[in-house]
Amino acid sequence: MRFVDEYRDADRAQALAAKITDLCEPGRHYKFMEVCGGHTHTIYKHGLEDYLPENIQLVHGPGCPVCVIPMGRVDDAIHIAQQPDVVMTSFGDMMRVPGSTRSFIDSNADNTDIRMVYSPLDALKLAKGNPGKHVVFMAIGFETTAPSTAMTVLRAAVDEVENFSVFDNHVTVIPAIKAVLDSPDLRLDGFIGPGHVSTVIGCRPYGFIAEDYGKPLVVAGFEPLDILQSIYMLLRQLTDGRSEVENQYSRVVPWDGNQAALRAISDVMELRPYFEWRGLGFISHSALRLRDDYARFDAERLFELPGVRVADPKACQCGEVLKGVLKPWECKVFGTACTPETPIGTCMVSSEGACAAYYNYGRFERSRVKEATRA
Ligand code: SF4
Repeated sequence: MRFVDEYRDADRAQALAAKITDLCEPGRHYKFMEVCGGHTHTIYKHGLEDYLPENIQLVHGPGCPVCVIPMGRVDDAIHIAQQPDVVMTSFGDMMRVPGSTRSFIDSNADNTDIRMVYSPLDALKLAKGNPGKHVVFMAIGFETTAPSTAMTVLRAAVDEVENFSVFDNHVTVIPAIKAVLDSPDLRLDGFIGPGHVSTVIGCRPYGFIAEDYGKPLVVAGFEPLDILQSIYMLLRQLTDGRSEVENQYSRVVPWDGNQAALRAISDVMELRPYFEWRGLGFISHSALRLRDDYARFDAERLFELPGVRVADPKACQCGEVLKGVLKPWECKVFGTACTPETPIGTCMVSSEGACAAYYNYGRFERSRVKEATRA
């Protein structure tokens, strides 16, 4: 297939759905986790759950980069932005993420200068054009976006830019999946593996999921037929009694990843001993920070940070949603106190957040009916 509409062809989707139904063992319930928020978005945008038999349940995982940023890190970023002559920059999704008392947008009403950029290079350009200011880029995301941050730091070093730094919040996907696997709350039959991250890390790092935990994982693309085909491939493995890592997204994901991108990350960044994830708590070796060689570009070393750990609001159940334990509509404030316009938790902010996907595509009512039928 060459064109995007071919990956959205309803007849092909129906044919795949029929093959999926044929593979399901009667009386068996299957639970698959889509790790990536982009997959959650596709599933609800295209109503894919409606194509699947009742005994297949999809749950979302911790793969939305904005959703996993804890409130304390938002507070830290605002604290940096409050310093004299600082311009803070970040991706648009971060602008409305609530900190303990305010978001970036709220903070700008109090005279901070926090701007949305499309890439870290835009932030570097801003620094070059404003020598009287110090421009900080709040870097977020998995291994997908870490290479562009690393390349920007390398460019800043070559160009000897002295008024630019990075507030590094990059996280790594494997420890998060391991935390989900070790969680006693959830029994999963397999994973729809993240597509974007895998373009960088490849498929090999997922091997332990199949070998040590006996769960199949299929790296999947982001079109409706990609996801249905991945579910078919997972069921095929379960039917055959196999647990392997397979690559449905081979048109984009190289098995061994992108070596140039991995080299850029490891040249500039190293693993932190631990990092706090919203809803998952502290996870060892799950995030990146700048190496000593690039300390002059590290906002955490240039500015003193409060670094206070902030508990999520009592009403917020993002942690359970991020672990796939709760569906968004099971959170008490979903769609009432918490909406995309008035988010209480991060999962309602980002377009990749499960709550935003449910809310924006109005799927929660159908899910309710479906869950009620299952009960
Ligand atoms: S509805 Fe809001 S508070 Fe509840 S889990 Fe979703 S984002 Fe968090």
